[in-house]
Amino acid sequence: MTATDQRTDRLKKALRDAGIRITRQRAALLDVLADAEDHPDAVELHRRAVARMPGISLSTVYRTLTALEEQGVIHRHQFEGDAARFEHAETEHHDHMIDVESGEVIEFCSDRIEHLQKQIAAELGYEIVHHRMELYVRKKAGEG
Ligand SMILES: [Zn+2]
Repeated sequence: MTATDQRTDRLKKALRDAGIRITRQRAALLDVLADAEDHPDAVELHRRAVARMPGISLSTVYRTLTALEEQGVIHRHQFEGDAARFEHAETEHHDHMIDVESGEVIEFCSDRIEHLQKQIAAELGYEIVHHRMELYVRKKAGEG
C-alpha cells in the first residue's frame, strides 16, 4: 500500500466517522486530497475531483472539506488575500511562505525558528501549544 493509499484510507475513515456516505464522487475528492503535494483551494480541488469522476458539486466539496477538517485529517490555511487552501494533515510540521506575486506556497521548516519560538515563549512564562508562521515573500530582484 502506497503512502497515498494510506492517506486515502484515513480520509475515508474520517468521513465515515463523521457520518458521511462515501460516494464515488467523494472518493475521487479524497484521492485528490491524498495526492496533492501543493496547497489547493476548494475550487482547484473541485476541478481535480471532477476530472477524475464527474458529478460532484462545489458545495459538496466545501461540505466534505469542512467535515474532514473537523475530524482533524486535513488542515485549512487562510493565507491573506486568498481563498482557504487545504492539505492533508499527515505532513511533518512545517511553516509556509507565500509568494505575494505568484501566489505560490513554499513549505519550510527551520530548527532555528522552532527553537527560538520556544525560547521566547518560555522567557515570557509560556509553553507553545501550537503555532502558525506565515511569511509573505517576493523573489529578490535578479533571482528569476
Ligand atoms: Zn503545507
